[in-house]
Parts: sequence; C-alpha cells; structure tokens
Amino acid sequence: MLTLFKNIKQLRGILPVSVRYLRGHEMDTVISIDNAYLIARDGFIEDFGSMDSCPISATSATFNQVYDLSGSIVTPTFCDSHTHIVYAGSRQGEFVDKINGLSYEEIARRGGGILNSADRLANASVEELMRDADRRLNYAIKHGTGAIEIKSGYGLSTESELKMLEVIKSLKEKHKCDICATFLGAHAVGRAFAGRQSEYVDYVINDMLPAVARQGVARFVDVFCDQGFFTPEETSRIIEAASAHGMRPKIHANELAASGGVQVGVAHNALSVDHLERAGEEELRLLAQSDTVATMLPGASFFLGMPYAPARQAIDHDCIVALASDWNPGSSPSGSMPFIMSLGCIKMKLTPEQSFNAVTINGAAAMGLSHLYGSISRSKVASFIVYKPYVPDANYIPYAYSEDLIDSVFICGK
Ligand SMILES: [Zn+2]
Repeated sequence: MLTLFKNIKQLRGILPVSVRYLRGHEMDTVISIDNAYLIARDGFIEDFGSMDSCPISATSATFNQVYDLSGSIVTPTFCDSHTHIVYAGSRQGEFVDKINGLSYEEIARRGGGILNSADRLANASVEELMRDADRRLNYAIKHGTGAIEIKSGYGLSTESELKMLEVIKSLKEKHKCDICATFLGAHAVGRAFAGRQSEYVDYVINDMLPAVARQGVARFVDVFCDQGFFTPEETSRIIEAASAHGMRPKIHANELAASGGVQVGVAHNALSVDHLERAGEEELRLLAQSDTVATMLPGASFFLGMPYAPARQAIDHDCIVALASDWNPGSSPSGSMPFIMSLGCIKMKLTPEQSFNAVTINGAAAMGLSHLYGSISRSKVASFIVYKPYVPDANYIPYAYSEDLIDSVFICGK
C-alpha cells in the first residue's frame, strides 16, 4: 500500500531517525519543510521532501492513494506517555466538593480518592471497563494521539490489577494507535492492607508482580513515590523486583513533596520520572546527567490549582523534558494533548517549539518508542496530524487553545 500526501503547506517535526530525544535547548528548534510531500508505504514513512522534488511525475497510478493536503500543516501525532484511562465511574462529585472547600479527608469519606476508584473498579465488569476506556482512547486519537501509555493502579489487588491490564491488552488488539501498559500496583495501599504498608509492598512484589509477569501484560513498572504514599526504599524494592521480570521503571515522583522519587528513579535508570511539581535544583541536576526523561503533567496542576513543574528551568539545566496528559478521574480528567501543549506555553512558559518537542519526540522517548514515533523520519510509523487549512502558522496551534484545529489524524498511514 503506497500513499502520497502532496501539497502540504508545512511538514513539521522532521528529525534524523537516529535522534532518540532532544535535551535542554536542543528543544528550541523544530525542523520543517514548506510546500512538502510525504510518501507512506504499508504504514511507515518511506520518503518526504519539497514538492519540487516530489515524484509526482511517476503518475498517480504508482500510488494506491493520493491525498491533496493543500494549505494544511502536518505534524507527527502526539505521544502521551502518562495516562490512567482505564477506570470505573468518574469523580465530578469530588470536583464539586473541592470547589466547596472540603478537605481531602472529607472528600475521601464521601467517596473520593484512589481507594474509592479502586472500590468501583473491583465492582465493574471487564466489558464496562473496556467500553469506557475505548471511548476515552477514541477521543485521544481523534485529538491527535498516536502512541499512549496506560497504567493499571486502580486495582490494588492481584485480581483487579490483572483485570485492568487485560483491558489494556484488549485496547491494544483493537486499535492501531500504539499502546504501552504499565503496572502500577503501588499506586496506594489497597484497602485490605490498611495500616500495613510494608506487607502491601511484599504483596506487590511476591504476588502481583509474578502474576503480571507470567501473563506478559505490562512493559513497565510504576510506583507512587511520594509523601503519604510509598517511600524511596519501598520504591527501590519494587522496581528491583520488577527489573528481574524485565520491566523498566517509570516513577510518580515529587508531586506532593521532595520525595526522593527522582533520586531513586535515576539510580535505577528509570525511563522517566513523572510529575516533578516539587523538583528543585538537586533533582534537575541529577536528571540532566541521566537519560531519564523528566515528564511533566500540566493538566493536573491546572485542574488541582497546584504549582506547575519547573519546565523552563529543566530545559536550562539540560534535561530531557516531556509533557503528558495524566488523564485520570481524580486530578486530570482530560486527554487533550493540544490543550497540554497550550498549557506548556501558557502556564510553563515554554516556547511553542519546546512544547511541541515535549509532546512528540520526548514523549515517545518516555515510552521507549522514539525509534518509531515522535518525528517525521524515514522508516518511522506514518502517524501524523493534518491541521485545518485556515491555521495560519504553527504558533497558532498552542495559541488558539480551545479551537478544534485538527482536520484529520492518520494512524499508520490510514
Ligand atoms: Zn499519574
């Protein structure tokens, strides 16, 4: 299947295929070609370039399909490297309680928080979970996401964690969008282990992890390493056990406090450490000396009214910065990556180029997928966004933060 996309107003996000991420001020630049073409063969990018050199003279008979994208900007699809889109129910009641000034404890009593999401998940069928997660995934794809990471972590028992990972596996079978599954058994201490945190950690290591590994349903492991959740020592034990099963860590770190999560993540060669709202000088220096991606989640800061992670300082320190949606029912009920890119600019003061690189190539790096996604490069997957022809230039995309600017999304060339 050979497809030609011609007369592209601007083809953006071009990188040599060997580039796995952009570090620090390498993120300042986005390479583009004006008046361009792109050729996809069997779902992969075969070639691209200026229309002047387009092999159009080979006549359209050479191609199975020809799209004229006159006037449109084309970019690679977004890489959303941190989501929790498999969940039961929603938490708008908690949202209203927060507006009315209720405390975290009062909200938990009324049915909020991770443990209440876990109760609802335990009672939901695989079919219900699949139906809702599928709807969310379709939304993400329609809004430009071509590769996504999805975590477990509302199970908190071996049975329910496996149920979540089973749903992620079914999503994977159904969709062409690339999906990475992460096992997050240590998201909170399960209700059955209330007051017995170290026993719960043993249970994660000795019961959950071997079961997840046996079924081969998770590529990565995650731990909520933060104040009031899991300690760096517990995190270390869990990720060491997981690495024996071949799962690389991605850590929830420094959302609520200087938790030591960045240190433990970098020490264990984590693919990414995520959140980082409370990351300081020491954490940024450590990240700059590592290949661990600093993934920031501005949707959670926006929704909860928390401080934003120090994205600009991280770039000045020479870190690899990614932005992701953190789509989850409690703290970021949105999977709109265009909005995340806008928040990167509006609230974190990233330039449009830096924000773009954070949601494409560096998001791909945070999933270990940058050999396939995150840029327009020969041999990468032909997944890209076509913007509406009236979009005047690329800066308009994060600027017009609530306009639906996407005309169409091609996943694997289709
Ligand atoms: Zn999260």
